[in-house]
Amino acid sequence: MFRNFKLVPNIIFGRGCFDQLDEIIGQQRCSDDSWVVFVTDDVFQSRPFEKAIPVHGNDMLLWVNVDDEPKTSYVDELTLKVKSFAPSLPAAVVGIGGGSAMDLAKAVSLMLTNEGSSVQYQGWDLIKHPAVYHIAVPTLSGTGAEVSRTTVLTGPEKKLGLNSDYTVYDQIVLDPLLIKDVPKDQRFYTGMDCYIHCVESLQGTYLNEFSKSYGEKALDLCRQVFLDDHKDSDDKLMMASFFGGMSIAYSQVGACHALSYGLSYVLGTHHGIGCCIAFDQLEEFYPEGVKEFRQMMEKWEIRLPQNLTRDLDEDRMNKMIRVALNLDPLWENCLGKDWQTIMTPDKARSLFLEM
Ligand code: NAD
Ligand code: ZN
Repeated sequence: MFRNFKLVPNIIFGRGCFDQLDEIIGQQRCSDDSWVVFVTDDVFQSRPFEKAIPVHGNDMLLWVNVDDEPKTSYVDELTLKVKSFAPSLPAAVVGIGGGSAMDLAKAVSLMLTNEGSSVQYQGWDLIKHPAVYHIAVPTLSGTGAEVSRTTVLTGPEKKLGLNSDYTVYDQIVLDPLLIKDVPKDQRFYTGMDCYIHCVESLQGTYLNEFSKSYGEKALDLCRQVFLDDHKDSDDKLMMASFFGGMSIAYSQVGACHALSYGLSYVLGTHHGIGCCIAFDQLEEFYPEGVKEFRQMMEKWEIRLPQNLTRDLDEDRMNKMIRVALNLDPLWENCLGKDWQTIMTPDKARSLFLEM
């Protein structure tokens, strides 16, 4: 069976294109009482960029905090806030920020039209009704969240996305000017998320020409950004994120993402840095990728945290291993159908102990 997957239908790209956001949203404002909610990373609160967000009289500017990556409980809380803001549904939900804010906005747009808690929809194609029209404005590039059909959420039982065609954004606004002031380390970690998406996709058993075409281009762009320091790095990184997302959409990620999910679930390690920490231990599986990744780290003077798992008790270590090994498709993509004979719980433990 071939997957028939949905793409973002409308994309605007270019330095300064954020200025057209108001006009784009305007097409959704169909009556006098139409309103829009801007789900915005609170890192921009009281910064000059706040003034540039095209908030109109009836609109809601909803600041979101991403110190912790998105949780189902937070999505439920935000959805309730939006529902109590006005008697009608918003005409649009606009997500402004990195992967976390974009995922929160996606999740809120889905939960406004689907009853109950977001916990009920963690999985594949469980969403019943189309979301409110939603727009993404990335301010940090690498995750590919702007193109994916998921919103990654940590729930009481599992870290799993709301995967559905309805999750896909209706419009994305890719303005490279918005990522130019991201602090160096954060830009590196999230950029490496993209680099690792490409390596895992290109070296995976699920590879096909569709994923390869996007993955090779994204990998090339990452090299121009992180090794050559190209003068158009912001434009290139933004497109690398998009292409990397397209590559994994039709293949899969691999060992690094599986292990990073374990780190994240038990230790709360953020996605980008968690992927870097895990990838640094995966020379055996991705020898060329890890070698190049270390060159990039050196160039960017990145020092990864160490000994994360040193004081972990047995229960939490077992949980970490369980979470990582539960992700069958990721391991199958990396190691083939017999992956369980290679990535045993003991092997996973020895890798975690190096992190
Ligand atoms: P993030 O969104 O968590 O942001 C990291 C930090 O950068 C935050 O402190 C944020 O406030 C700050 N930041 C964002 N934009 C900034 C800017 N322009 N200037 C200064 N600071 C800025 O980081 P991320 O790596 O983009 O996203 C990680 C999240 O994305 C995780 O929750 C992960 O699960 C999710 N993710 C989702 C998908 C998907 O397909 N939906 C894919 C990969 C990762
Ligand atoms: Zn990732």
